[in-house]
Amino acid sequence: MFYTCLPAKAGSTLNVPYLRKNFASSTMKLDILAIGVHPDDVELGCSGTLLNEQRLGKRTGIIDLTQGELGTRGTIETRYKEAALAAQHMKVLTRENLKMRDGFFVNDEKHQLQLISAIRKFQPEIILANILDDRHPDHGRAGHLIRDAAFLSGLAKIETKDENGVAQTKWRPKYVLHYLQDWYHEPDLIIDISESFEERMEAIKAYSTQFFTDPSGNEGPQTYISTPDFLDSVIARARMLGKRIGVKYGEGFITEKKIGISRLDALVLNET
Ligand SMILES: [Zn+2]
Repeated sequence: MFYTCLPAKAGSTLNVPYLRKNFASSTMKLDILAIGVHPDDVELGCSGTLLNEQRLGKRTGIIDLTQGELGTRGTIETRYKEAALAAQHMKVLTRENLKMRDGFFVNDEKHQLQLISAIRKFQPEIILANILDDRHPDHGRAGHLIRDAAFLSGLAKIETKDENGVAQTKWRPKYVLHYLQDWYHEPDLIIDISESFEERMEAIKAYSTQFFTDPSGNEGPQTYISTPDFLDSVIARARMLGKRIGVKYGEGFITEKKIGISRLDALVLNET
């Protein structure tokens, strides 16, 4: 059992031994930072891409904006345990929860500054973020909050401090890519996640209180995401996106900024 106890304060990392030792300093440079408003958003939206990058030697991490406390099934405690287990499957270096209010956070100065401080701490080159418009209103609100904070983080005159009270320097990621969630949006970018697919599904299934995992079905009230159909739809989405680029499984992203590449061999062979 690698999970030991709950985080003690807002903004603290999950208390997982393999994560804790990486979290001694107040800055922690990451290449890719995935942000989700609910624990499990990152797993469903972009965990295959995170696993791809980790395999390439990139430093990856996750921020959850809320604890998902309004979820019908499970408790805050079970969701922390599940998030820690999923983090292990995704092999991220850190996972932090900002403890904003599930359902009721807003995209205002207070929340932007909180997120700007986190972005400056991790200094990511690329942020993977919630979509800008979706079935759950939290997703769209979070997508806009993350997009705005990522931009504002690059303005030197916005002053923030780290956990130790030390002034932070400005930081703007090169890209904010919004991963697809419930509603289908035509993606601007599809990433081949075929090699990461099995591990991705293990990360998703770590949320055993949220998703269908017990054939007996005796796990509590059924919700939109707890039926076998939901996981089937997750797999079908990945298959459909993969087919669009001639591979088995894919994850889709939208971006407001045009994607630029320097080498044509970055393109996936598309035989569709
Ligand atoms: Zn969500």
